[in-house]
Amino acid sequence: MTGPILGVAIDAPLRRLFDYRAPPSPDPEKLQPGQRVWVPFGRRKAVGVIVELRSRSDVPEARLKSALALIDEVPVIDAILLDLLRWSAEYYRHPPGEVIAAALPSVREDVVATGTMTCSVARELGPELTPEQAAAVSAIVAAHGRFAPFVLHGVTGSGKTEVYLRAIAEVVARGEQALVLVPEISLTPQLVARFAARFPGPLAVLHSGLTDTDRLQAWRAARAGSAPVVIGTRSAIFAPLARPGLIVIDEEHDASYKQQDGFRYSARDLALARAQRHGIPIVLGSATPSLESLERIRAGRAQRLTLPNRTAGARPPSLHLIDLRAHADTQGFATPTLLTIRRHLDAGGQVLIYLNRRGYAPTLFCPGCGWVAPCPRCDARLTVHQRERSLDCHHCGTHLPIPVICPDCGEAVKPVGQGTERIEETLTDFFPAISLARIDRDAVRKRGSLEATLERVHSGEVRLLVGTQMLTKGHHFPLVTLVVVLNADQGLFGTDFRAAERLAQTIVQVSGRAGRAEKPGEVLIQTEYPEHPLLQQLVHGGYDAFAAAALVEREQAHWPPFARVAVLRAEAPGREAPLAFLEHAKELVATCDVAGVEVLGPAAAPMERRAGHYRAQLMLHAATHSPLQRLLARWVPLLEEAPGARKVRWALDVDPLELF
Ligand code: ADP
Ligand code: ZN
Ligand code: ZN
Repeated sequence: MTGPILGVAIDAPLRRLFDYRAPPSPDPEKLQPGQRVWVPFGRRKAVGVIVELRSRSDVPEARLKSALALIDEVPVIDAILLDLLRWSAEYYRHPPGEVIAAALPSVREDVVATGTMTCSVARELGPELTPEQAAAVSAIVAAHGRFAPFVLHGVTGSGKTEVYLRAIAEVVARGEQALVLVPEISLTPQLVARFAARFPGPLAVLHSGLTDTDRLQAWRAARAGSAPVVIGTRSAIFAPLARPGLIVIDEEHDASYKQQDGFRYSARDLALARAQRHGIPIVLGSATPSLESLERIRAGRAQRLTLPNRTAGARPPSLHLIDLRAHADTQGFATPTLLTIRRHLDAGGQVLIYLNRRGYAPTLFCPGCGWVAPCPRCDARLTVHQRERSLDCHHCGTHLPIPVICPDCGEAVKPVGQGTERIEETLTDFFPAISLARIDRDAVRKRGSLEATLERVHSGEVRLLVGTQMLTKGHHFPLVTLVVVLNADQGLFGTDFRAAERLAQTIVQVSGRAGRAEKPGEVLIQTEYPEHPLLQQLVHGGYDAFAAAALVEREQAHWPPFARVAVLRAEAPGREAPLAFLEHAKELVATCDVAGVEVLGPAAAPMERRAGHYRAQLMLHAATHSPLQRLLARWVPLLEEAPGARKVRWALDVDPLELF
């Protein structure tokens, strides 16, 4: 046999590389990992990426086909990125071809362009840094050329973005590039403009909403080095960089960094792995750092940089709990809450009301017989959307007309509970003269309507702002003096071990919207459990107090970051198949002969049926990462061969963010 054997990754759901002989041309010496090749694949022709060059193959010689043609003269994926992608495929046990496809803008295009790196200086210098900001920038800049993780902990408005901009300016001045990841929701035109104003030359902006052409252009600019700053959402972690100098992950605690389907990677974790391979500093910034990042600091694996104060002398907001059991409730508002809202409106302030439930009401109820409108495809209730006159399932998208009478007893039905749409209605009744805006997925569905609403908020025209999670991220509301968290209790007793962390982060993030400028802010949190430790910690000791207590609890309960978890999920149209498959999967764990991994379950999901499928999962739990990885390496190939595997849809989630 002549020439090398190519180990090729092909975008197909198979956890392996495919072996081919070298194509007829060019010289075998010109072949390199990271180049794309045309290969015969089944009955079609496919584009693959060379991952390895080997001298032999386990495929019998007669069955070994030749690659058809080499596509790129130079690798489209450099050695470090390719190594990261291979490592990711193994770590997450995901098909390597699909992992590599995630890193390319479009496998078919001619993706290589050459360009020149422009060495440039920042356009304007920005405000004079506070001593804390200056110390943070110096520490990051001093770590030039070596792997150094930093956790930049600063409340909203403390000047974190300014620290990124200044550290990036130094990187760019050296002729290197910075990669900046932001949560999906905060990649706004305003943020991009703030970066563009600072740095001459094109920014490469990467996110899921781009057209193929735009994505390819940004990708090329990143790869050629002509873009000094590459800014993007989750998948931008795979952007090629000609001369990487710094990685920044803004709001590193944000859930959108974890892909929740297909290739279930964490862009934050991969960013650390990437920075390590490049030997460059990385900054994880947040007002509410994840417990993983705080534990990293404690263990000496990251350096803490703190911005304790808001810039421009703005004072931190004061938090108060409103006991919902002790006060009369009018459509979700306790009397002291209504009085406080009025006081702030009278004083010319802007008020933000947060409720993480869109729609008019979470339930349609029959007072006659107790019937509640169920989703026909999920174990869930349908949400009433009054304006659309529909009953919607927020899990599967079922969309039905609202019945006037109960289908069981014929009595008139009524919406029960509060959603943002109903809160808007209630507030309009209470404060008819005050201009109000709602920000949630339904209200800003039309393109450009979010920007238009934000504009009305920033101008001060809107005085009352009602919204969901959408409000807690990225947006700055300098005129807001009062934030009301309508109901904190949904997250207090969650079954997921991260529920408390998520609730604390949400409360702190939404509180951070209040009183950013010279106006001091006030935050009211309505709850039926004011004595709950989480709320007490937040009110009296802030996020730090909560996080310290939460870390102790996690350690005692052996949850991440003090343990490693992977879950195997399965679903099927029938109830039995997923559980049977997972039972079998559990038996297979025993045959793998790896000590130190505990198996929990299988168990049905709390909401077992979703979109017509029954769901269950099996959890693997280990004290550290290596026994878990050893087990997964042996176990996943067995799962692929398991007889029940074809009867269900199954997926493995390593380091899951949500347990179901
Ligand atoms: P964060 O990213 O922590 O929310 P920003 O960097 O956006 O904070 O800063 C909040 C506001 O304060 C912005 O308007 C910013 O321009 C301004 N700012 C930041 N640093 C300073 C500083 N050292 N002096 C004055 N204003 C500053
Ligand atoms: Zn009824
Ligand atoms: Zn549904």
